[in-house]
Amino acid sequence: MKEILTVKNLTLSYEGKNVLENINFDVQEGDFLVIFGENGSGKSTLIKALLNLKMPSKGKITLREGMRHCDIGYLPQAALLEQNFPASVWEVVLSGTLNKMGLKPFYTKKEKDIAKKNMELLSIYDLKRECFRNLSGGQKQRVLLARALCSANSLLLLDEPVSGLDPAATADFYEVICKINDAGTAVIMVSHDVHSSLSVAKHVLHIGAKTTIFFGTPHEYEIEQMGGR
Ligand code: ADP
Repeated sequence: MKEILTVKNLTLSYEGKNVLENINFDVQEGDFLVIFGENGSGKSTLIKALLNLKMPSKGKITLREGMRHCDIGYLPQAALLEQNFPASVWEVVLSGTLNKMGLKPFYTKKEKDIAKKNMELLSIYDLKRECFRNLSGGQKQRVLLARALCSANSLLLLDEPVSGLDPAATADFYEVICKINDAGTAVIMVSHDVHSSLSVAKHVLHIGAKTTIFFGTPHEYEIEQMGGR
């Protein structure tokens, strides 16, 4: 297994005040890392750093050679998204290819093929002409996931992707994300849904009290949570 992302001695701060200190973890090819932490523990700040939107005060985030931060497919929290824009499903998914297009002013067959492939993978190709804002919450998440896959397929970063979804849509989302992971895409998922996330994770990072509370496998995490190693 090869690392695609390594975080070493990372410290993140706002105005000189540390939010996270000395964080260490890595993500391997095909990995599924779940990040847990109380509200205010620094999960969003860590995500910003992984996307290169926040500079470390100390330490380093290293991506696999040849990979750039814009190669990380990102699904933001639903609350941060404009859910009502009047675009079709096809337009939303296709817009995920924008960062691959360079200075070309229009989509070519290559971008359209990428969008179609990811829509088929997520079984939403028949929704192509639907208006995004008319979809259910679960369908919207599939569309946004297909969009994220168009911008990157070696690493996906998902920020609380099931919050706001009903249990059936949540189960459906986990099924889809496991399918994507099984096909070789590494996943980092911030989640509050400990029970379900542990069943899909390959590694767990728990942050709190400014630092790493735990990093290891779900099995080791469950043993630790039970109070003994
Ligand atoms: P989480 O995502 O785990 O809820 P955040 O990363 O949003 O946590 O926040 C971690 C800490 O950093 C909190 O104490 C929060 O108040 C602080 N914080 C977050 N964003 C900013 C900012 N832009 N300026 C100053 N402090 C911030």
